[in-house]
Amino acid sequence: MAIREILVVPHPVLKQVSEPVSEVTDETRALMDDMLETMYAAPGIGLAAIQVGVPKRIIVMDLAREGEEPQPRYFVNPEILWASEETAPYEEGCLSIPDIYDEVERPAQVKLRYVNYQGEQVEEDAEGLFAVCIQHEMDHLEGVLFIDHLSRLKREQAIKKVKKQAKAA
Ligand SMILES: [Zn+2]
Repeated sequence: MAIREILVVPHPVLKQVSEPVSEVTDETRALMDDMLETMYAAPGIGLAAIQVGVPKRIIVMDLAREGEEPQPRYFVNPEILWASEETAPYEEGCLSIPDIYDEVERPAQVKLRYVNYQGEQVEEDAEGLFAVCIQHEMDHLEGVLFIDHLSRLKREQAIKKVKKQAKAA
């Protein structure tokens, strides 16, 4: 396993649309292992492959709280089969947009279909933080960032702030 570099805005690769994975191979699993290690080291709760520069439809996640056993989760080619009309706001952050947090409104519940680490197709319902996180990460697969859900002014301010921090570092 290896920790990979996380791309930050305004890196153009983050705007790329990711390609479906045809089959979960050992190579796919090695990438997912690296992504999980990278996410834990950051630390973060979700990471899409495009954030480490790989344009494939792969997401890793762990929503375990501090002190709980790790609960790594892997999503290959995730699809949203259904989304509730009811929405819920959540203050989101992103490893590709360090130190920026803002409220995004998304469907409160979604029904998902994806392929897991073993290559099996799974259907699952998501709500709460799981629903927020999977929708945030699935946006990455389309080249969409959470700041794209904000006003243009807020988005520009966020990118400016990240650029400034990068310069200072
Ligand atoms: Zn993100």
